[in-house]
Amino acid sequence: MPIDDTSVALPADLAELRRGQIKSHGVMVLDVVIGQGTCVKCGAPSGLTLGANTACGFRSVEELVETGAKLAARMSRQGKVAPCSACGGSMNVASAQYHAFHSGLGKDLVVHWTPGEGWLAKGSSALLAWDSADGMSPVAALSADEEARFVHDAAYREARACFEMEDAARGAELVDRLYHADPNDPLLMSS
Ligand SMILES: [Zn+2]
Repeated sequence: MPIDDTSVALPADLAELRRGQIKSHGVMVLDVVIGQGTCVKCGAPSGLTLGANTACGFRSVEELVETGAKLAARMSRQGKVAPCSACGGSMNVASAQYHAFHSGLGKDLVVHWTPGEGWLAKGSSALLAWDSADGMSPVAALSADEEARFVHDAAYREARACFEMEDAARGAELVDRLYHADPNDPLLMSS
């Protein structure tokens, strides 16, 4: 059942962008951090792309949640945010979400992070799922198989990210490790 809450929903333009990325790259689609901003001058809402994460070889969903929340918080504080398109005022990041694709669910796992009140507040985070058809929805605890699938997806993305970042030696080492884990892995044979 989709969550009908605009503060959690992905803005239409960014939803379309993410849908396109998933369509062209499938399981290899890189993890991204996306923000939701509000203009401090005129209050207009805006979707913000805060960055991609290439160190995405999570060993568990728990690690995804911890790292996703940490990165969302850091990127929303340090990320360069374009000024308001309506009035040119500066944007406040109201929330940020870390997206990592799960090939078994055919959806992104999303760590949705909201800043806490006040300077030293820690912020809070929740794990959700997203795809362009259903939007944001709650996610039940993953089964052991589903979690293993996600860890496997993440290992591939980290290898791809290494090649893209021109760290081919590390990329080759990661592929080698995947090969030794399972030489008949269908993802290895297609890449
Ligand atoms: Zn504005």
